[in-house]
Amino acid sequence: MDTLYLVIPCYNEEEVLPETSRQLLEKMNSLMQKGKISEKSRIVFVNDGSKDRTWEIIEELHQQNPIYQGVKLSRNKGHQNALLAGLMTVKAHCDMTISLDADLQDDIDAIDEMVDKYYEGCDVVYGVRSARDTDTFFKKFTAEGYYKCMKKLGADVVFNHADYRLMSRRALDGLESFKEVNMFLRGVVPMIGYKSDMVYYARKERFAGESKYPLKKMLAFAWEGITSLSTKPIRMITTLGIVIFIISLIMLIYSLISYICGSAITGWTSTIVSIWAIGGLQLFAIGMIGEYIGKVYLETKARPKFIVDQYLSDDSDSDK
Ligand code: UDP
Ligand code: MG
Repeated sequence: MDTLYLVIPCYNEEEVLPETSRQLLEKMNSLMQKGKISEKSRIVFVNDGSKDRTWEIIEELHQQNPIYQGVKLSRNKGHQNALLAGLMTVKAHCDMTISLDADLQDDIDAIDEMVDKYYEGCDVVYGVRSARDTDTFFKKFTAEGYYKCMKKLGADVVFNHADYRLMSRRALDGLESFKEVNMFLRGVVPMIGYKSDMVYYARKERFAGESKYPLKKMLAFAWEGITSLSTKPIRMITTLGIVIFIISLIMLIYSLISYICGSAITGWTSTIVSIWAIGGLQLFAIGMIGEYIGKVYLETKARPKFIVDQYLSDDSDSDK
């Protein structure tokens, strides 16, 4: 029997944690009773620099029942880094992890199926939303448009999959070898490879608290995804430069004809052609430089992805 660790990033989630922890405990107990996971399985909450009582609640839970563990980040680092911190912290203790949101919008009954797929030999099991009935029209429209846009830009993302997924220890080792700082998990995980499968579920509404992803954060996240996975935007500039340069050649022919026909004012021909030609060449040159900057970009930003402040594990009950 293998050990499952649930990893749940939490940012200001005091309103949902009591209920979430209760439901997850129930789920874990039922999986243990069915003999699907070992008794050593754990529920790990990652406190992403919350400003409310989130960490106190996690500490209380850990004290009540050691099945609950907590990882406290030194400050708010965002959902992706919090998740990564959790996964990397527990990696050595488990055979598989499932990451999910604290608000349980993702149906936890899909966990059973994910675990089954794991035993069938999958290293990654993606939770995929089968319906978006509970999302607002705006969220559905922007989210689905975004996935399509990502595909067009060449990023291999799983359609309608957020960060609800099972990963085996082996897959996590693979993930760790990605040293990039701009870690956009749902784009990087498919790059790891290994056998994977999907599990479909209906997404529910947040039962308490507010979304921690307001529009501004969502846009930043979307942009982060594109710029950390794809250099196509730079290539678009290069292409635009070439297109404008070609226009300049057409303009050259057009102005020469006007000049020969005598309908051009003196000086107009040279001015108009050089405006187009220089503009086009400049954009092309910027695009070329951008190509290299794009490559250098990922290599240079060697900032730490996260700093773990505390790790509440089985054997550290006494120290806070
Ligand atoms: N989250 C986090 N750090 C942040 C923002 C969000 O750890 O800076 C967590 C949050 O606690 C939740 C998950 O990321 O567990 C998803 O957030 P939320 O449910 O608010 O996003 P939505 O479902 O509205 O997209
Ligand atoms: Mg949510």
